[in-house]
Amino acid sequence: MAVHEGKEYGVGDLVLLDNITDDSVVNNLKLRFSKGRIYSYIGEVVVSVNPYKQVNIYGQDVVQQYKNREFYERPPHIFALADASYKTMRRLNKDTCIVISGESGSGKTEASKIVMRYIAAVTNANQRAEIERVKNILIQSTCILEAFGNAKTNRNDNSSRFGKYMDINFDFKGDPVGGNIENYLLEKSRVVLQHAGERNFHAFYQLLVGGSDKLLSALHLKRDHKSYAYVSHGTAHPVNTINDKQDFQSVGAALNSLGLSTEQTETIWRIVASILHLGNITFTKDGDHVNVANMDRLQSVAKMLHISDKDFKQALLSRTVAARGEVMDKPLTQSEALYARDAFAKAIYERLFTWVVQQINETLRPPANPSASLYGKNTVIGVLDIYGFEIFETNSFEQFCINYCNEKLQQLFIELVLKQEQEEYEREGIHWTPVEYFNNRIICDLVEQQHNGIIALMDEACLNVGKTTDQTFLEAMDKKFFKHGHYTSRQTAQQDKTLAHHREFRIKHYAGDVVYTVDGFLDKNRDPIFQDFKRLLFNSKDSLIRDMWPEGAAHKTTVTKRPLTTATVFKNSMLALVQKLQTKEPHYIRCIKPNEIKSPSQFDEVRVKHQIHYLNITENVRVRRAGFAYRMVYKRFLQRYKLICQKTWPNFPGSDVDGVKAILTEHRLAKDAAFGKTKVFIRSPESVHYLEEARNKKL
Ligand code: ADP
Ligand code: MG
Repeated sequence: MAVHEGKEYGVGDLVLLDNITDDSVVNNLKLRFSKGRIYSYIGEVVVSVNPYKQVNIYGQDVVQQYKNREFYERPPHIFALADASYKTMRRLNKDTCIVISGESGSGKTEASKIVMRYIAAVTNANQRAEIERVKNILIQSTCILEAFGNAKTNRNDNSSRFGKYMDINFDFKGDPVGGNIENYLLEKSRVVLQHAGERNFHAFYQLLVGGSDKLLSALHLKRDHKSYAYVSHGTAHPVNTINDKQDFQSVGAALNSLGLSTEQTETIWRIVASILHLGNITFTKDGDHVNVANMDRLQSVAKMLHISDKDFKQALLSRTVAARGEVMDKPLTQSEALYARDAFAKAIYERLFTWVVQQINETLRPPANPSASLYGKNTVIGVLDIYGFEIFETNSFEQFCINYCNEKLQQLFIELVLKQEQEEYEREGIHWTPVEYFNNRIICDLVEQQHNGIIALMDEACLNVGKTTDQTFLEAMDKKFFKHGHYTSRQTAQQDKTLAHHREFRIKHYAGDVVYTVDGFLDKNRDPIFQDFKRLLFNSKDSLIRDMWPEGAAHKTTVTKRPLTTATVFKNSMLALVQKLQTKEPHYIRCIKPNEIKSPSQFDEVRVKHQIHYLNITENVRVRRAGFAYRMVYKRFLQRYKLICQKTWPNFPGSDVDGVKAILTEHRLAKDAAFGKTKVFIRSPESVHYLEEARNKKL
């Protein structure tokens, strides 16, 4: 069974559509979806439509069908892409990466797991214990990361609230010997507040539902989640697709397999419990004096974190200010105290998450390889599963960052797939009608440009504590961008009735218009966590907690340097990520969400068409079709295939180009090829397949 199974399934490779329009692409995907064909290709790009049901196409038998095959030999599947990535890495000793994009709930995280499953299935023929260990951790780590980094949202019951880039390192035999996970911007505001219909991170509910009576009592917890403010805003618990009890067991087993000690695991759950208690601390006002209303909660938190009640109370109610060498305690107002409490909760959780990722990385660290120089370097396959484009009722700082990240990835896709392809044809002098596409560079610049971008303005506003507010930041943006084609705000466009009030601005993103509410932008960007809290945690009797907060060691009078803002840290990490991806041979999975109701049978054409449009899928098909499936430098082509042509074997006296022409002519393939300045281009994959077969017969 090859890539095309017959007319009733539409075309497996969108390049073969008769007429390439958004509509014909949608119709083809719809037909395939209705027949359970969730994957299609554009050349070597996989388009995946979320089936919203278990499909039986990931078993060991299917793995075998894809192992060591070429794309066009089998029906479209993520396995083919994983195999191609693996083969490129092995044969060419080149790093590759798999970039998975699509909106929230479109199936990115599931796709990344399918890639991992394939790699685990095809490696380690010799059953080496160390390789099994690494594969096991790679797979187990997903369950831990999802417990602490995923949550139920209105889009997806298991939505990743952090970005993840995972490198898998391979040795010269092609077996995975280690890995490294990089995590990006956890949506920590969720720790203290959830929208209607949503939950906090899974871990909280796992503990409350799955923890034993003994554990809960040690943590001073009641099983009823409604007793805890931080996990009951969204009123979405329980979720029928989630089994918190079972997941708690799996996470425990996974933590254990990482080699964490019982004490370490206990600390993790103590930190989670401390946050639940923290959310219940309230304050009373007694004249000018603010006090803690419920000391029992405060004591529970202190006990969980192994810190002193007294110091904790002081840190909650006042702040140390150092001025001219003098140290003073400045009391907080009631609202400042509530704010500090929430900031504390978010910071503890974020640190915990980062610590967990570090532990996974510790156990995955590839061994320093003494034989590396003998056999060539370790190679890497990177898998990027990062939050998709988001538009909510109200969009805040987090959506701004997430959508900026998607702009960057779209930019990379345009650079690599569309632009480079076209530029190569021009460079090689191949006849070519350029395909029009929207380049989103202008939006990336709007956000990230040094000195002049939105992030730069935001940082500038954050420097002037006290003087600037979200409102003045909005005004500064209005002043700067009022002529920008991708920016509007109510103040610059008075007539614009679609913007509700003066606190909103709109960015015209590649994937659609998003209205952001400016409230809270500066605060989330500044993200202050007071030195008193850091000191408090550094003085914890629990060495693990202490280790999580090394900067708490600074003395009271030290004026700490202002840390980089959240947006700048995020921007820098995006720039580094793009740079890293650029050095690798990319493979793409484009995920599509067929409907808004998680239904396995509904295909919402309007929603799909919108995604097709902004993912540039149709342009991708056009560029690909106008183009050529394969290309190779003349010399390499000649070397590879000279044995299948009498004129070129064993040596060809003429030029490389003539040699290549001789081969193609003898095999009647010249019509399917074009000859550029340095490379030969072959239009259809079948021709390459034919050449490979002919070569194999001679070997
Ligand atoms: P994303 O990471 O893009 O937000 P997920 O990968 O978490 O989306 O997918 C959302 C849900 O859709 C999953 O929890 C699962 O129920 C379903 N799903 C996605 N891909 C598949 C698949 N290949 N097979 C079965 N179900 C899937
Ligand atoms: Mg996800």
